[in-house]
Amino acid sequence: MERRCDKCGRILKPGDLVYRLEIQCLSDFDGIITEPEEDLATLLKTVEETPKELLEEEIHREFHFLLCPTCKDHFCANPLNLPLDSMEIPKSIPDPAEPDPPPQLQTHGEDEK
Ligand SMILES: [Zn+2]
Repeated sequence: MERRCDKCGRILKPGDLVYRLEIQCLSDFDGIITEPEEDLATLLKTVEETPKELLEEEIHREFHFLLCPTCKDHFCANPLNLPLDSMEIPKSIPDPAEPDPPPQLQTHGEDEK
């Protein structure tokens, strides 16, 4: 069976580096129960009329995805897809194969003696 990245659709060949992304969304409980806005009978009726699957999805959902390395990096860089308003995107990204330029030596003050 052919496997593909669930994000970009790239074919994932046997032996390729592949990431499995598993997301659980669980209802949290802080220990406080607030007074319902509706009366209890109305609330119970609403619950009874709501399909069981929808009620379960309100408290627990799971997602499973296969990602290629690029899509994994994109996801991990911003998993909540937050706005990047204050970030500047560089016009170009240096080739990682090229070594960094040598650091500028700090000679300030040494020749003034
Ligand atoms: Zn991908």
